[in-house]
Amino acid sequence: MPEFIKKLISDFGPNTVQTGEVLSNRAASYWDPTPIAAKALIRPKTTAELSEILKKCNDAGQIIVTHGGLTGCAKAADSTPKHIVISTDRMSEIEEIDEIGGTITIQAGAILETVQQTVAENGFYFPLDLGARGSCTIGGNAATNAGGINVIRYGMMRNHILGLEAVLADGTIISSMNKVIKNNAGYDLKQLFIGSEGTLGIITRVIVKLESATRSCQTALVGLNNFSDVTAFLNHMKTSTGSRLSAYEVMWGNYYQAVTDKNGHKPPLDRKYPYYVITECTGSNAESDEDIFLNTLDEAFKNEIVLDAVIPKSEQERKSVWIVREGFEPILENNPIFLYDVSLPIKHMESYINNVQQGIMETWPGADCYVIGHIGDGNLHLMVCPKAGDESLHGKSDEIVYGPLKDIGGSVSAEHGIGNEKKAWLSHCRSQSEISLMKSLKQTLDPNNILNPGVIF
Ligand SMILES: Cc1cc2nc3c(=O)[nH]c(=O)nc-3n(C[C@H](O)[C@H](O)[C@H](O)COP(=O)(O)OP(=O)(O)OC[C@H]3O[C@@H](n4cnc5c(N)ncnc54)[C@H](O)[C@@H]3O)c2cc1C
Repeated sequence: MPEFIKKLISDFGPNTVQTGEVLSNRAASYWDPTPIAAKALIRPKTTAELSEILKKCNDAGQIIVTHGGLTGCAKAADSTPKHIVISTDRMSEIEEIDEIGGTITIQAGAILETVQQTVAENGFYFPLDLGARGSCTIGGNAATNAGGINVIRYGMMRNHILGLEAVLADGTIISSMNKVIKNNAGYDLKQLFIGSEGTLGIITRVIVKLESATRSCQTALVGLNNFSDVTAFLNHMKTSTGSRLSAYEVMWGNYYQAVTDKNGHKPPLDRKYPYYVITECTGSNAESDEDIFLNTLDEAFKNEIVLDAVIPKSEQERKSVWIVREGFEPILENNPIFLYDVSLPIKHMESYINNVQQGIMETWPGADCYVIGHIGDGNLHLMVCPKAGDESLHGKSDEIVYGPLKDIGGSVSAEHGIGNEKKAWLSHCRSQSEISLMKSLKQTLDPNNILNPGVIF
């Protein structure tokens, strides 16, 4: 065992600094069951302890990768035997709910779903929600500026955070634990760490703003004939339901068919439609909200925008609708499979997807490109399955998917970040001057390049 690791064990104890079997029993990520590669796994209990650990690593030039719930989709938490992994899993307390101000103070390792439940038990609502809710952490959500299904109404993680504490590479604790919406006293330093994928500091605590609990929820899964109807229905929902519209998730027909085939989920709606949308409204008056929702759907039927619909009558039925959108395991069984998270103006989406699907099918006959998206946010997720070959096809697939984005004002990352996976494409959607400024921030905050080195650029 390296002397440096022995010294860390003697300084911080074997509960905090772990090696050997502990590492071999820990999966590399949600996507990769192989054991993590690292010199050691460090699990600090407090910000002060983390600060001391980072100071020692910085002085020794020891490279680090931070682990939250390991559900990230951009390979930003990958480690090698040269890394020390720092996990936030022992810093997971909910420290305070301020019922008067409507805020919650949470340690970085808290699991999103636990936070959602605690908030609901206290009569509030925390709107960040994504399929990985049972495993992802608040620190990871902040470090990736996570999005998810309610962004159309409430915004991304950045929009919820009022205060944040982080530890810099040299151990300096930056505590911006602000609780109020307005605070223009100089630079808003928390923004540096939100979406920085662990490259500028390790987030230890956040204060997030809570929303009032909603008292009603109406959901529908609808089938539509073409993409113009998908956008017409989006605008109709926005106009007619106003601020109640909380989710608008589109699924291309081939995705719906793939996840509801004989080995998949029970289809809540006939499998014949070219497009499907799950839409959800929440509000504060169950009776009038339901009337508005049903009248809005009725109008869409009368105007022949929507061809068919299922309206769940219970929470269980609602879940059986959402599982079609969130449970894409039947597609993940394809190997190789390349997952994408792009954003682009809605007006270009139909032709962009048609071109990408054509490019994929011409390159690999028999291939499939499944598409879902949070289209109100301009965000599409593509799942490219060449149906033959191996990982070596990834580069070609990237060219087909990312290539056209520059000319139509798109981004290679809508919500998952750049990580190790998309570095080569950063300059496709960020200018050289933007990248230079990002690099100088990195150099200023982490001059020895010990925090997630190689992530983003
Ligand atoms: C089924 C599924 C559905 C998903 N759906 C969505 C979705 O709808 N929207 C969306 O945005 N994402 C989605 N994701 C991706 C993922 O859940 C998010 O990126 C999430 O925010 C990652 O949190 P994590 O705790 O798992 O972070 P990790 O995967 O552990 O880490 C991600 C990055 O953040 C860094 N990091 C983690 N914790 C900290 C910290 N405390 N301080 C500094 N850096 C840190 C890591 O080093 C790494 O760079 C989904 C993933 C899955 C598996």
